[in-house]
Amino acid sequence: MQFDSQKIAAHVQQHGVTVKYYQARLCDCMARNQGQPDPKCGCLNGFWYAEPKEYKLLRSGINFKNLPTDAGRILQGGCQFTIPPRDYSVGCDGEAIDLYDAVAFGDVFVLPNRNRKDRDILQRGVRDEIRSFDVQQILSITKGLTKYLPDIDYKFTNGVSINWLTGKGPATDEFYTVEYLCNIQYFVWDTMAKDRGTDETILPKAILCALRQFVNFKVSAIDNLILG
Ligand SMILES: [Zn+2]
Repeated sequence: MQFDSQKIAAHVQQHGVTVKYYQARLCDCMARNQGQPDPKCGCLNGFWYAEPKEYKLLRSGINFKNLPTDAGRILQGGCQFTIPPRDYSVGCDGEAIDLYDAVAFGDVFVLPNRNRKDRDILQRGVRDEIRSFDVQQILSITKGLTKYLPDIDYKFTNGVSINWLTGKGPATDEFYTVEYLCNIQYFVWDTMAKDRGTDETILPKAILCALRQFVNFKVSAIDNLILG
């Protein structure tokens, strides 16, 4: 059967979603810290991220039927992206990086047109930065019943940083909660799970992604797994 890649390209154009792709670069702190990200390193849980590039990809749900139970739980709420072969990938800005070959564990896809509320617990003076990409809006910053106000207690800068104003906010080392709106984001979990095992390079590639979120109260087999 002749595979019609032009039809795939047209299908992606018509039904695909726009994604922002943040390519991950592995941080060497893992080597100094028994294979775990060093919390004192400035990286994002073991990865540094490049400036995002936009692509158009097909997005679909995950069929859990053929996945091991643990993987199914990690991927609950996740999705599958279908990446067309290089000749037909769209939205590429012409740089040497090619999404079809480059996509790997740790990369992040963000849907710029879709929002989601997330929460995180930060620690003053230790981590005053939100780890989500593309934060749209701070909804609240609180410690117990105390509510902190923008421009009176803190300023939100760089899209990630909570800057406490002098004499305001929780004491150094104290924890506080931030709730915010951000674009929906996915963490690339497995690029080979759906590999067809052939020499074909003209077929689209399906990759499995986990929802990238920072507070998940649902009990899972792998508790408190922090993604990216
Ligand atoms: Zn690091």
